[in-house]
Amino acid sequence: MTQSDCHPWQRQNSHQTGFPVLIPGALYQLYDSAGYWDGLQFYLPNHRLVHFRRRLASIMVTPLTWLLGSRADQLFGILMYHRVVQPIPSIALPRESVTTRRFRQQMQGLLSWGYRPWPLRKILDYHNAGRSIPPKTFLVTFDDGYECIYHEAWPILRELAVPATVFVTTAYLDTDHPLSSDRWAKENAERSPAIWWRSLSTEQCAKMQASGLIELGSHSHTHADFRTRPEALRADLQTSLGVLRDRFRLRDATFAFPFGHCEAALAKAAQQAGMLCALTVESELVDPRSNPFTWGRFAVESYDTAATLATKLGGWYSLAQNAWYRLRRLNPKSGRGHP
Ligand SMILES: [Zn+2]
Repeated sequence: MTQSDCHPWQRQNSHQTGFPVLIPGALYQLYDSAGYWDGLQFYLPNHRLVHFRRRLASIMVTPLTWLLGSRADQLFGILMYHRVVQPIPSIALPRESVTTRRFRQQMQGLLSWGYRPWPLRKILDYHNAGRSIPPKTFLVTFDDGYECIYHEAWPILRELAVPATVFVTTAYLDTDHPLSSDRWAKENAERSPAIWWRSLSTEQCAKMQASGLIELGSHSHTHADFRTRPEALRADLQTSLGVLRDRFRLRDATFAFPFGHCEAALAKAAQQAGMLCALTVESELVDPRSNPFTWGRFAVESYDTAATLATKLGGWYSLAQNAWYRLRRLNPKSGRGHP
């Protein structure tokens, strides 16, 4: 028996769903209801405060995974990355990025604790065949298609044999300017390495695809805001699929919503455009029997460790989050809405 076999997260006590939701909810209450955290709003910009609270929540809920094991026996989790970068002392890391070192630690940690990375298409095959998925299955995905994925994440994925899906924004392949949606790049492109914001090239994508480890998917053609515009999304995705067909010989494609915006009409448009699935940013585990045009993903934050990711993949993070929202709705003094 190896050391990893003994790790408490190896336990498969999946029948914890009856565990009172008040306990994780109370953990959230501990950090969230105290006026102290609200006081921080005077000192931190709102997005930094949200970041801080999520980080604290991840850390506080993590012991539940140690103590109780995974809740995710029949479910799986999808991780969503954007950038993987080598930090530079004089430049603050872009939002939605993890360092190369941290990325390696996350992957190595999850693998050593028995988590199994699967390709998205394999999961879809199992979904279509009505087959169940083994415990501790998870997926790795990258949105936007930044060049740093090729230089920083790809060598680690290859070394550790971790399959992943890269959702590329097809209009930006081979271009030399940032995505129009990338506000960080607009402010920082000139003083940061180009691979942090430039899109992948066709050649880089083809190399990763040829390995058999990386699937290319669509993140739309233009990364526009398609809310309430399903027809526009459908046309955009047909263009995107055309690019993927011409350059990478894909007959069909997986898809992740730009900005995570998902509406029933948009999901239908994606299906009509020939997409195989439409991934959202709902922080929820996925039931493989559910509609793949609603599957959520866990955003990986810069502070996430293998331990906090195991907590997300183990189901406790979502449970705590949901329990907390429920508690807050019951609290008449709570004037704030859903974050
Ligand atoms: Zn995006």
